[in-house]
Amino acid sequence: MTELSGWGGFPKHYGVATEPVNETALVEAVTAGAVIARGNGRAYGDSAIGLRSTVNMHRFNHMLSFDRQSGILVAEAGVLLSDIIPAFLPHGWFPPVTPGTKFVTLGGMIAADVHGKNHHKDGSFRNFVDWLDVMDTEGVVHRCSRNEKPELFEWTIGGMGLTGIILRAGIRLRAVPSAWIRQTAQALPNLDAVITAFEAAHEATYSVAWIDCLQSGDALGRAILMLGEHAIPEELSDDAARYPFEIPKKMRRSVPFAPPFSPLNGLTVRAFNALYYWNGCRKSGTSFLDYDSYFYPLDAIHGWNRIYGRRGFMQFQCVLPLETSRKGLHALLKTTSQEKAGSFLAVLKRFGPQDSAFSFPMLGYTLALDFPATPKMIALMCKLDEITLEHGGRFYLAKDSRMSAQTLHASDPRTEQFRQMRTQLGAAEAFQSHQSQRLDL
Ligand SMILES: Cc1cc2nc3c(=O)[nH]c(=O)nc-3n(C[C@H](O)[C@H](O)[C@H](O)COP(=O)(O)OP(=O)(O)OC[C@H]3O[C@@H](n4cnc5c(N)ncnc54)[C@H](O)[C@@H]3O)c2cc1C
Repeated sequence: MTELSGWGGFPKHYGVATEPVNETALVEAVTAGAVIARGNGRAYGDSAIGLRSTVNMHRFNHMLSFDRQSGILVAEAGVLLSDIIPAFLPHGWFPPVTPGTKFVTLGGMIAADVHGKNHHKDGSFRNFVDWLDVMDTEGVVHRCSRNEKPELFEWTIGGMGLTGIILRAGIRLRAVPSAWIRQTAQALPNLDAVITAFEAAHEATYSVAWIDCLQSGDALGRAILMLGEHAIPEELSDDAARYPFEIPKKMRRSVPFAPPFSPLNGLTVRAFNALYYWNGCRKSGTSFLDYDSYFYPLDAIHGWNRIYGRRGFMQFQCVLPLETSRKGLHALLKTTSQEKAGSFLAVLKRFGPQDSAFSFPMLGYTLALDFPATPKMIALMCKLDEITLEHGGRFYLAKDSRMSAQTLHASDPRTEQFRQMRTQLGAAEAFQSHQSQRLDL
């Protein structure tokens, strides 16, 4: 038995963990029943922890082919984004959609149907997946796409590993002119100003705001908005323009162990937030950042999740429809600030339209907040759940570690269809995570 947890370190569960070396061994694991696939464990909660058995996919880590004309990469599900980028960026190709960490697998990105800072323009990862090979309850592999077995394709993307095991996929990379991003940062005094600025920035390729969520009153929701574009060599410094796909090597710092008590408390988070905001004000304007610093700032500190201490932490991430976003975000931030529960990471993004079976995004705004895993914060998150429900929003399963089945089912009518589909396929018995049991999926 192995102890497993997600990136938040909460909850922790004991179970059987296997690492199949090939498809034959994977068939054995799957047909034994009640398994779940695990990529690189970057989902925050219990979605990649099997109720009985967890199948680690890291041996399925081969890139199989690449078409230089179309940018189509065929790769196994256990390949890490942090391997794809160095293999293809030097040739001018980049992930079309990326989460805020590159230490995720292709299978994990598809199962969560990840979104990036460009969702308002390009949608989620799903839009760049051409086909999938999925192993069913009996170990049979099905090729599925928008034309071939479309139901399996649609439910698997965003299906959190609960429809089968993704073995391989064909995905489309994006052609980029350099490894650099032209960032324009703006300090904004409150939530209204942030939303107005997001709406005005609709043409920007990438947009994201970091919110100082300890503020209240007129300063509620003050933020730094960061817009980004892939830079062309002509706008870079001489050295960077000569080698536009090379970036300076960086030292990776690390948090070596989880302290018994987290150094993050009201005071330190308040100090961090104030510093970050004033630094953002100072650096407002245009600058050039290498892709790693722009997309993956947290990856620079190895094991940063440990700063929350041994109890771990949780993330709350919801999306609110466009019509209710302003009011709903106001209520979410006010409740967070009233509890003096500053989140050290509070991120706001604008989503564009999304049409998919079970994926998280919808047209509107998504807010993500980190909290230490304490009973007080769990109570606060239940209040945030209610506010989300009142405003017609829904929740991101890749970040969830403690929501109730009732909340999920009330938030999303697609949940019942997903459950029925699983029962019909026999997947409800065969693919089970702690999350699927908790959420009655
Ligand atoms: C710092 C940080 C920033 C993040 N930023 C974002 C963000 O901006 N946008 C976003 O959308 N997400 C974000 N995430 C969440 C992350 O992208 C997802 O949780 C992703 O699924 C993690 O991939 P993984 O390979 O680690 O998967 P795991 O955590 O191991 O698994 C996640 C889910 O995928 C399933 N799965 C994994 N592999 C397979 C497979 N081969 N077949 C079937 N199912 C499989 C698992 O069963 C599980 O349900 C972030 C996470 C972190 C830690």
